[in-house]
Amino acid sequence: MIDPAGTHMRKVLIASIIFLLGASLLPAQVDLHTVEFQYAGRGVLVPKLGTRIEVIPILALIGAGAEYSRAAGTYVVAYGEKRLQFTPGHKLVMVDGKLLDTMDAPVPSPGGVAASLDFIDRSLLGPLGFRLDPIPQGYRIVPGARFAEPVTVRAAAADFAATTTLVLTLDRAVIAEAESTEDGGIVVHFDDASPRLDPGTLLRSRRVRSLTSNGREILIETGADIGLLNWHNLDDPPRVILELGRVYPTPTPAPARVVERSGPPPIVIDPGHGGKDTGAVARTGLNERDLTMSVARYLSAELRARGHAVRLTREDGEGRALTDRTAIANRLEAKIFVSLHANSSTFSSVKGAETYYMSLDDQATDEAAAATAKLENEAGASSDGRSDLDLILWDLAQASALNESAGLAVAVQTRLNALLDLRDRGVKQAPFVVLTGATMPAILVEVGFLSNPTEASRLGSAEHQQALARAIATGIEAFLSEP
Ligand SMILES: [Zn+2]
Repeated sequence: MIDPAGTHMRKVLIASIIFLLGASLLPAQVDLHTVEFQYAGRGVLVPKLGTRIEVIPILALIGAGAEYSRAAGTYVVAYGEKRLQFTPGHKLVMVDGKLLDTMDAPVPSPGGVAASLDFIDRSLLGPLGFRLDPIPQGYRIVPGARFAEPVTVRAAAADFAATTTLVLTLDRAVIAEAESTEDGGIVVHFDDASPRLDPGTLLRSRRVRSLTSNGREILIETGADIGLLNWHNLDDPPRVILELGRVYPTPTPAPARVVERSGPPPIVIDPGHGGKDTGAVARTGLNERDLTMSVARYLSAELRARGHAVRLTREDGEGRALTDRTAIANRLEAKIFVSLHANSSTFSSVKGAETYYMSLDDQATDEAAAATAKLENEAGASSDGRSDLDLILWDLAQASALNESAGLAVAVQTRLNALLDLRDRGVKQAPFVVLTGATMPAILVEVGFLSNPTEASRLGSAEHQQALARAIATGIEAFLSEP
């Protein structure tokens, strides 16, 4: 290194030139007192006060109305359906009645109120569904909140013969809308919420390839030719239900649908319990497992004699998980699913037959119905590996058939009441696991109480079992002949 003094002189000279150039160029191009905001092709220069920027011109740019209430000392911003309220000097913003904490407070200014870029982006534009994107001359306001509050999304899918039901369960109520994308995928948009996939989400479906979140929407990649057929929202818990299936015409003629049956759709009878699971046991030694099988055989014979195809979900002595029973009915495309059971009560005086259909909200019609559901849901629990998540999904299958299930339950119970001369026991609703997955009208019939000595001995007789079968068959036929 030689001539250090000369090097220093050159540095000073270069710095001076840059300063002079800067001094002559800067004022014309960059106004240190304003910053440009663009929206939808229009731009405005907004006054700047130190690190804060006037708020009202920015709101005006996107077409949001801002009104100052002198009495309350607050600004009320109206944008479409949204109402946003903030107070100069306070780090709080109220969005549609909900309080948001902010990083810093807006301050009174010559133009009314000024705020930091962060406040404008995160606390004002964000809740209105916008964000700021930096551009060379300032900022562009674009749709899509950057700092939307997260919403956790749990996904589950159930494959049926021709369609897949995909359920996105949200941890809070937000607006979510599904639509098909041009490249054949599906996207779920979230209004003012940032979707995060629950880390526990494990999706198994032959029609869904992947499910991801980009922080603003959920992207669903489907198998070839599979697309969105339909979607809707449900509450409690908030859910987006998507029906996926074949959407594009296939060049070759569609092959015949493969189902495990030939002939007309059967009535599927499910004899409750089975295998090691005996269900309720009477003092006489008669157990529910054997009783339901016996009634199922009589019912099957009765229905066949009336010209119906019938299938049973299990053979004698065979055990089966609760949800597998409806899966069989679904696979066979059954027209009706009837699960047969016998009840038990701590009060030996309780007797009579009851017919249940599914309750979707986990609520039983009364305490006794809840107790019955609890008893039946525990049956074969050890062999049933399904999670709560699966059950949420399965009950959606029955949701579509719920009105028909209620009609079937009434038709069957009416005949049982006539047979048993019953008045008080009747049609009830309870969250039965065995009914949850059925995509067709589905009921659970408790043919009587094994805990009642008189009824137990009656239930043990072939005549009574046949009479029950006839009553149930007549109820089914009455339902089938309804318009
Ligand atoms: Zn049972």
